[in-house]
Amino acid sequence: MLANARYYATRDPLGTAGDFITAPEISQMFGEMIGLWLADIWARAGGPVDAAYVELGPGRGTLAADALRAMGHAGCRPSVHLVETSPTLRAAQAGVVPGATFYDSVASLPADVPLMIVANEFFDALPVRQFLRTEAGWRERMVMNDRAEWGRRFLPILGDDDCRAALQPQLGDAGQGSVVETCPAAMDVMAALSARLRVQGGVILAIDYGYAGPATGDSVQAVQAHRFADPFVDPGERDLTAHVDFTPLAAAAAGLTVSPLATQGAFLTRIGIRARADALARRNPAAQQVVHEALDRLIGPAKMGQLFKVMAARHNDWPQPEGFG
Ligand code: SAH
Repeated sequence: MLANARYYATRDPLGTAGDFITAPEISQMFGEMIGLWLADIWARAGGPVDAAYVELGPGRGTLAADALRAMGHAGCRPSVHLVETSPTLRAAQAGVVPGATFYDSVASLPADVPLMIVANEFFDALPVRQFLRTEAGWRERMVMNDRAEWGRRFLPILGDDDCRAALQPQLGDAGQGSVVETCPAAMDVMAALSARLRVQGGVILAIDYGYAGPATGDSVQAVQAHRFADPFVDPGERDLTAHVDFTPLAAAAAGLTVSPLATQGAFLTRIGIRARADALARRNPAAQQVVHEALDRLIGPAKMGQLFKVMAARHNDWPQPEGFG
């Protein structure tokens, strides 16, 4: 947690000159499609005039700027609320999303209006816990903080405490040597937002590199300059991520209606990204190739289309969202 807090606080990691690139930085189409998706469900929910746009970890603010522009064209002009802990990225967001209000955590978001919440590559930046099935049972494993022992790096906590209760029950019998991850921070955020949405109305759209568990495996990765890097070297200087398990995330959305998980490719295709790409290419023929390459990166099965998943959860009275089949 400290490593990523330092990492994000001290730089803008996005883009070709940075460490990694995200969907909204690939093309304006991504944010625009999300904006149109929000405007559509908002209109069918009766178009509440006091609705708020909320984004978690908005990076450079690109998604918010593109989404809000598209929403405005569709007659939806919400107030804007950004949950961001990095001062560097807050400054970037303020520059492209004028009038936004900033928050350190979801706890202080407005409590009396419907919320339209977007989280793209946010949950994967939150810290995970890892558990190892040892001979003696499940033990949490921790990072070694002893240079002499760095070769070993992860060490299961000694003692008699079995951590089986911290795992999804189906994983309790996984074989010796299995690793299981949990993300309590993500559960806390989802539970807090669900409590709000149940009372205030609205919807959350979460997009991340992830899967529908239960599944075993160590998914912690570090990325630096667009390459995989050693997660144990230079803490705070490399982006740490873990794949998002959408099964417990959906379970944490208690009291909401959760749509079946969609791949990013299927979701964007169903809500019309091809038509948007064609329109952009028609308007600017010189950019045709760039637009279609970006489209392929976003929806191509070998690119982001299959690995990234989209989850929507909404107040039970809000209409069924587009894009989930
Ligand atoms: N959504 C953006 C950026 C993804 S990077 C995009 O798609 O381009 C992760 C973002 O989450 C960064 O903005 C980072 O500063 C922010 N972040 C990470 N941990 C956070 C936390 N605990 N609370 C709020 N924001 C956080």
